[in-house]
Amino acid sequence: MPTFSHSRLSTFENCPQQYKFKYVDKIKIEPYFQTVEAFMGKRVHETLEKLYRDVSMGREVSKAGLLLDYADDWEEKWTDDVKIVKSGYTGDDYKRVGAKCLENYYDANAPFDKDVTLELEKKVLVHLGGDYSINGVIDRLSQKGTTYQVHDYKTSSHLPSQAEVDADRQLGFYQIAVHALWKDAGDVELVWHYLRFGKDLHSKKSHADLEELRIKAVALMKEIGEKDGDDFAPKVSALCSWCEYKPMCPAWAHLEKTSLLPKNEFLNEPGVKLVNEFAYAKEEQHAAEEKLEKIEAAILDYSKKSGASVIRGSDKKITVTHTHHLSFPAKQSADRTRLEALLKEKNLWDEASTLDSTALQALLEEKKISAATAKEILALAKDSERTSVRLSKLRDEETD
Ligand code: SF4
Repeated sequence: MPTFSHSRLSTFENCPQQYKFKYVDKIKIEPYFQTVEAFMGKRVHETLEKLYRDVSMGREVSKAGLLLDYADDWEEKWTDDVKIVKSGYTGDDYKRVGAKCLENYYDANAPFDKDVTLELEKKVLVHLGGDYSINGVIDRLSQKGTTYQVHDYKTSSHLPSQAEVDADRQLGFYQIAVHALWKDAGDVELVWHYLRFGKDLHSKKSHADLEELRIKAVALMKEIGEKDGDDFAPKVSALCSWCEYKPMCPAWAHLEKTSLLPKNEFLNEPGVKLVNEFAYAKEEQHAAEEKLEKIEAAILDYSKKSGASVIRGSDKKITVTHTHHLSFPAKQSADRTRLEALLKEKNLWDEASTLDSTALQALLEEKKISAATAKEILALAKDSERTSVRLSKLRDEETD
């Protein structure tokens, strides 16, 4: 059983097909690219890591110094391969957002002496029982009095609700790791720093919460382990725009491949041609159905006016039939109760098969009941006429 990570499990939940590309087939996309959101998040994390390393060395960190470290890191690592998905924005826009994240954090936490930093970018392996384990990285682990705090920095543009962070799995895994690694860690608090908003969200998990999280994670890992190659279906969502496997994904490959073709090549591409033919045939089918409905209405009108129930064409004929259909009151209605009582009173209940509409209609048609009873029953029924039109070949004798 492979070692999982929170992001690996999330990849499976978001899209099993992407999971297969990445972790089963292990496809590496060349040239490698990363999204600007991921790039910006990494630079912010690196800058905050350096900040706490400097603080632990007794250095005083100014806001200007922090932003300079960030700008240097950004310039050094920026490449044109960084992908900007949202149109209308540039790398500089994201650089500014990252800087704002750091300013917010600085303003809320300087001079960074509210707690003691125990670990930075700490790699942990969380054993969940059996062969199942999760690895991850704690951004910062600190101690404040007797409480350990697991910190996670977020540069996302989405601010989750308290309920969402309470249900978060990733920091729950890290809490399990903290309890395993530091036996004196009685009280553990989980803290998410939503840097864009300058907002911290806090949560605590009881041992029962952690056990529930462990059981669910193991069940998910088992489910993934039992999947066959074809079980990893694409799950199309807004996340597709950020997916590096889009050009080879079954849900997107043809759209991607054909989107760049010149018009004449596009129209001659076999898949495009088939879809166009199908769409055209469907339109024709729809138009033909509408036409048929109109002709059928005209035939019924003709039949009514002329009194003819069989109407001939050149080598086919149309037979118009009218049938009467009785419908009986709906269950639990007052009329239904009256009808059931009437049938029982007239000893017809068994024959009507506990008010089977077909059986009751047959009783009436076969005139097995007295005219007076039939009249009472019909008073509670609704009579509707059904008309059908049937096309068939003219018989020889009909063409003489
Ligand atoms: S493009 Fe979308 S559907 Fe296809 S693998 Fe990626 S996330 Fe899944």
